[in-house]
Amino acid sequence: METILVLTHADEAGAALTKASLEVVTAGKELATRLSAPLAIGIVAVNANAAASSLASAGARLLAVCGEAFAQARYATDAAACEALCRAAQASIVLAPGGSRYTRIAAGVAHRLGGFIDTHITALGGADTVEATRWFYRQRVEGVLTRDARPWFLLLDAGTHAAFAGQPGPAQVEEVAVELPQIRTTVSGLRAPAQDAQTIRPDAKLLFVAGAGWTKKQPDGQIHAAEAGDLILGFLRASGASLGSSKSLVDQGGEGNSVLPFLTHLNQIGQTGSTPRHAKGLATCCHGEEPHVVGWRFIGERRAVSLDPNCGWTRGKADVVYVADAFPVMATVNDLLEERKA
Ligand SMILES: Cc1cc2nc3c(=O)[nH]c(=O)nc-3n(C[C@H](O)[C@H](O)[C@H](O)COP(=O)(O)OP(=O)(O)OC[C@H]3O[C@@H](n4cnc5c(N)ncnc54)[C@H](O)[C@@H]3O)c2cc1C
Repeated sequence: METILVLTHADEAGAALTKASLEVVTAGKELATRLSAPLAIGIVAVNANAAASSLASAGARLLAVCGEAFAQARYATDAAACEALCRAAQASIVLAPGGSRYTRIAAGVAHRLGGFIDTHITALGGADTVEATRWFYRQRVEGVLTRDARPWFLLLDAGTHAAFAGQPGPAQVEEVAVELPQIRTTVSGLRAPAQDAQTIRPDAKLLFVAGAGWTKKQPDGQIHAAEAGDLILGFLRASGASLGSSKSLVDQGGEGNSVLPFLTHLNQIGQTGSTPRHAKGLATCCHGEEPHVVGWRFIGERRAVSLDPNCGWTRGKADVVYVADAFPVMATVNDLLEERKA
């Protein structure tokens, strides 16, 4: 019989578990129920009390590694913590969130335990075995994996499961001791971009995509890049949306054309960009060509604003297309959002 361990960790504030961790709790619970297998949840936090209380109704054995050393992500301490949790749980299946913190250490921990690892898992299936699903070749081919090797580590992509939200309550936590290795890395502080400089927001409900049209000559024969930048940033501020871009727009810098200074290739959506998961998407000044739209695979509802009535969006790629000038459209949308705030 399998023994399932879900690895979780606290967020930057240190108290609550990250949303991605809670999503893996849901996946672990579903798998444990389906296989009638015991479930343990491992917590890595400075103090695991609040996190444990939020998991009280999960029906799982709760294990925790606690202490100041685990306040920050660091290979040596995180790997030691997760190794200790895996050994304490004697787990054959280990599920973990595929965020930067555990992606960095999971392969190392699997190696220490003589196990195997697969990453970017989007679903877990199988009636009495574990079948893990992931996409290959830029989300074009979906594969289902099974393995005999144990322990089997599976890193789950964020946004693929609902976050666990049980009734908080008193919880019994078994604290697991960790023998820390010599620590060579000290965290001297955290430097993060200002909130509105961070335009990639994986947890946002809406993906807003800017296309090359924003920096092209408009019907008056002029380029309005500064106005475009203000409209886009104004919308992001008011809506909390995540900013994506077409390849043409982010490539323009190299061709000496006007660019929006807050965009980088990290914003690029598509075949050679990213494939984010959001409930809704709004494309503006973008043609909706296949190499771009393939990055929209996991966007629930798609809308687009384009001047071109023959653009790719109107040819079956979007649910709703507004054939309109995005400048006045977004200015009006921003005014409405500001009005609603006030
Ligand atoms: C191998 C390969 C990989 C690629 N990978 C990617 C990828 O990962 N991601 C990606 O995005 N592309 C990718 N591409 C490029 C892709 O094929 C398109 O060239 C690109 O997506 C076009 O970007 P765009 O729609 O922003 O620009 P354009 O094609 O220039 O379209 C601009 C659109 O804006 C509209 N417009 C202009 N002004 C306004 C206005 N005021 N209001 C409303 N609409 C307006 C125009 O009508 C036009 O439809 C790839 C191509 C290849 C060959």
